[in-house]
Amino acid sequence: MKDILSYTLPELIAELPTEKLYRAKQIYSWLHVKRALTFDEMSDLPAALREKLREDYIICKLKTVKTLISERDGTIKYLFELPDGECIETVFMEYRHAYSLCISSQVGCRMGCKFCASGLDGLVRNLTPSEMLSQVYEVERLTGKTIGSLVMMGIGEPLDNFDNTVKFLSMLSDKNGKNLSLRHLSLSTCGLVPKIKELAALRLGLTLSVSLHQADNAKREEIMPVTKAYNIDELIGACRVYIAETGRRISFEYAVIAGVNDSKDDADRLIKLLRGINCHVNLIPVNNVAESNFHNKRENVKNFEGYLNAAKIPVTTRRTLGSDINAACGQLRRSIKN
Ligand code: SAH
Repeated sequence: MKDILSYTLPELIAELPTEKLYRAKQIYSWLHVKRALTFDEMSDLPAALREKLREDYIICKLKTVKTLISERDGTIKYLFELPDGECIETVFMEYRHAYSLCISSQVGCRMGCKFCASGLDGLVRNLTPSEMLSQVYEVERLTGKTIGSLVMMGIGEPLDNFDNTVKFLSMLSDKNGKNLSLRHLSLSTCGLVPKIKELAALRLGLTLSVSLHQADNAKREEIMPVTKAYNIDELIGACRVYIAETGRRISFEYAVIAGVNDSKDDADRLIKLLRGINCHVNLIPVNNVAESNFHNKRENVKNFEGYLNAAKIPVTTRRTLGSDINAACGQLRRSIKN
């Protein structure tokens, strides 16, 4: 059975060579605008075509396994089951009547960052374009709200699933579908240098977030093994290429971890590294992960922000939404699995 929700409109046209062109467009609209979950709903298609579609294709649908709702700010964390039984997390956030979604790009992750729960058991598999789209469609269906912005900061490394991610982005921004401007999307990477350059060349207009977390190469290696493959100089080089190609500034993520990367020396090194780069630093007080002893000290986060401010490096500390349901990324999935 083929997964019809992963077909772009041109691919769908190619799938139906004997049908009139407008049929593919009708089907695409049923799937991506009206969000039909069965072929029976596609009432303006001939019965014979609906039957043929039913025989050849499935429509990807996510099953809600668990829903955690923050009593403080309405943030909702979903644990979704995929068609093959694997689970992923998706987080819905509301801020000043605008709705934003944090989606997953893989089941698990093979990047092995020490402070992150998503990669503790390695990578299971990549998500398909339809499984990424379905997170958006299913949350819009469940909440009745229209999602206006997206962050690819859930489980997985989106650039390690490059082709599916790029296809997902093109379908998400398709005017025949959800039609979301990629200006409203941030993609976060731990620093896969060749893929950052490939992404730059596509000039998609999205915001690139780079998870830096440490400006010293040897120390970054200790918490982010990806540094062994691509060192900090190479990473910053790729960021410069990205900025030059796209004209967009980069957002550097920095999870502030007590005693690991939150000293004045750490801040000074970061300031030196980023001096002159068109960027913004986003400090994230590290979430505690049960399996590790990383934690944050609020006072150190505040001081760290102060050092960057004083050096005129643009910086903000991430607002904590849903702090009462604040299981770190990937922990909900693990809690079900183990
Ligand atoms: N693989 C991508 C995107 C997923 S993680 C990446 O590495 O960027 C999204 C962000 O959350 C990354 O910046 C990641 O480093 C950060 N993160 C992971 N675990 C965290 C934790 N326990 N506390 C704070 N931030 C964390």
